[in-house]
Amino acid sequence: PARTRFAPSPTGYLHLGSLRTALFNYLLAKRTGGQFLLRVEDTDQKRTVPDAEQRLYDHLRWAGLQWDEGPEVGGPYGPYRQSERSALYREHAQQLLDSGNAYRCFCSSERLHSLAEHRHKLGLATDYDRTCTHISAAESEEKASKGEKFVIRLKVPDVYPSYNDLTFGPFKPLQRRRGEDSYEDPILLKSDGLPTYHLANVVDDHHMHITHVIRGSEWMPSTPKHIFMYSAFNWQPPEFAHVGLLVDENGNKLSKRNFDTDITAFKDMEIFPETLVNFAALLGWSHTQKSDVMDMDKLTSIFNLKFTKGNAIVTFGKLHFLQRKHAISRIHAGGPPHDELVQNILKLLKDPDSPYKERDWKPTLGSNPTDYISRILTADSENYTNANEFVYRNQYFFTRSEVSLLPFIPEAPDVSERCKALAEVSEADWKPEKLKSKVEEIIDAREGGRKEGKHVYHYLRLALSGKKEGMRLYDMMWCLGRSECLRRLAVDV
Ligand code: GLU
Repeated sequence: PARTRFAPSPTGYLHLGSLRTALFNYLLAKRTGGQFLLRVEDTDQKRTVPDAEQRLYDHLRWAGLQWDEGPEVGGPYGPYRQSERSALYREHAQQLLDSGNAYRCFCSSERLHSLAEHRHKLGLATDYDRTCTHISAAESEEKASKGEKFVIRLKVPDVYPSYNDLTFGPFKPLQRRRGEDSYEDPILLKSDGLPTYHLANVVDDHHMHITHVIRGSEWMPSTPKHIFMYSAFNWQPPEFAHVGLLVDENGNKLSKRNFDTDITAFKDMEIFPETLVNFAALLGWSHTQKSDVMDMDKLTSIFNLKFTKGNAIVTFGKLHFLQRKHAISRIHAGGPPHDELVQNILKLLKDPDSPYKERDWKPTLGSNPTDYISRILTADSENYTNANEFVYRNQYFFTRSEVSLLPFIPEAPDVSERCKALAEVSEADWKPEKLKSKVEEIIDAREGGRKEGKHVYHYLRLALSGKKEGMRLYDMMWCLGRSECLRRLAVDV
């Protein structure tokens, strides 16, 4: 069983890229009967966005990614918020000091700044020059105990250990460029005693018994340092699988402008959680199923670590395709998934800010609005994406034209008269199949028979909807109901 984690920093909201990372980790844990952890990496207090944490929880739960251990649910290796674990990180920084894998750096930020500037002008790497490694252990202790400000830096090796990335394969990190007196030694503990990402991340993954880390490839340059830290602590590192970045069709990194925005944007479009999860799962992961349409159960049952090495291209046409497919399942599933759609449509109609006026839709909804909407949904299930689009496309179900359309319909002279025979279909029989045979009866009775049938179809469709195309005629008649149909055909009932 895998223990995985999603480790967001609350410096922003959950977006498509981070949802995908969380999802992959969730799926691996569920697939293997393991646990999925949520850990809040709030070490950068300056950049913390106040409501980010709460929104993260809400959005993860909305998507169905409930964590087994983490904030709000607890667990054996908590606390799960890094700001509450500072003592542990200080202890481990000390361990690395003691083993000689880290050192105190007393350089002022002014010195570091001018060092970087100077090197930059010379075209050299701008990392640290290790001035403070020359300070003896005793002197370092003394300076620290006197209250001199310092940070703790990792002393990186000349050659990083290689590791096997589950996506990218054997990974041989570049050797440090020699002779430039410049070292990548990252800061582990800041002068305020709080850890940086590198330290807290490694310490927590170890103490939380994480077995697999799936994360974005932007973290790949950090991984050799992390692997080195594991060996410095004498710990077994977890497995790493890095996944490519999300890019748009032009190969540009997804940004706020092209939708890598807060998950709220998708919720506002009424994208279903199952659609978004399905969509996110397909970004950079390949499967051998016949269909791309999958819900969480399906994904959980087939998930593996077959990630694609390159970046994943996000095409929003696919999102809408998946939304239509999941809509069909919801509509035909009945029960709450179906009812939610009906309620959304009702809510939209009743919204005073919507373009739909009560005087228009009220009479058409009749005495059982949910039934009425439910019928239309079922008949139009192939096309559903959201309430707004649904009502717009099916407007004629929600308005009664003030002016009768009948005088304007060009038809064979006898058609309107003959269509009055529809009144012979009783309320109880008013179903698509029965309506079909009645219409065919009307057609057969006319001169020209089936060959001339188009006049009848044309007349009925225009009289009922005012449109030349749309859903199946018999479905339309069934949805409108007997009395509304006959009313629109100006048949006295
Ligand atoms: N806190 C990092 C982030 O915000 C976690 C990266 C990782 O998964 O190691 O993405």
